[in-house]
Amino acid sequence: MITSGLQKRPAAVAYHLFWNAVDWVFPPTCGGCNRTGERWCEQCQKSTLLLAENLCERCGNPLPSDGHCPECDRQRPVFTALRSFCAYQGPARKAIHRLKYQRDLGMGEALAQVMSPWVASLQWPVDVVTSVPLSPARLKQRGYNQASMIALPLAWEMGVRFDSGLLHRARETSSQVGLSAAERIKNVDGAFYAQGNLRGKTVLVVDDVITTGATMNSCASALLTAGASVVFGLSFARALLADHQVEPDPIF
Ligand SMILES: [Zn+2]
Ligand SMILES: [Zn+2]
Repeated sequence: MITSGLQKRPAAVAYHLFWNAVDWVFPPTCGGCNRTGERWCEQCQKSTLLLAENLCERCGNPLPSDGHCPECDRQRPVFTALRSFCAYQGPARKAIHRLKYQRDLGMGEALAQVMSPWVASLQWPVDVVTSVPLSPARLKQRGYNQASMIALPLAWEMGVRFDSGLLHRARETSSQVGLSAAERIKNVDGAFYAQGNLRGKTVLVVDDVITTGATMNSCASALLTAGASVVFGLSFARALLADHQVEPDPIF
């Protein structure tokens, strides 16, 4: 079960203290604006667009009002719900870039801290947390999985086990950048498989950024096939389609 911030596990406290010690030696700068002194400043908090209301109940896409979006009505995703903390723009986008492309690993812990109260408020009854895996080639190139850098401290904050080995890439996929929604679904269809003792488990899959949810749906499908009973998906940020098409991210 998700625990409150007052019942943090020792691992979460130790991990937080570790990054505090790193920050003491190397004073941190804000992931959103580079201001010295903290990893996520008040100004950036204020200018982050939170995705809290008027969302599709299932995929979490913003809607004019609560309910289901036309895409979910057309083809219902297999995950139970997918939510993102904020829009992938402004400071949130800069912070993800630092984590993903500039080897700022402490940013993962900072983002997990920022998200943690909101994750607790979702009250999802999670048994195990995992992350969307990179391809072996990408993992070797980058040296770490940025989604795991958020998922691990988040799981510790929740008091839930983290297992990075539940999901694997069954095959290489092309970059999702520039693909239509239908092409994205096809690109990641059957791209993952799951391993481990999943029978009857409720699994939370964490990613750094979500666009259409096609990757998350493919991960959920693999976990359900392997015996999981419920899959929830979560990301720090969500690329609202117009933003994503205007300014695509680097492929690596
Ligand atoms: Zn800032
Ligand atoms: Zn939807």
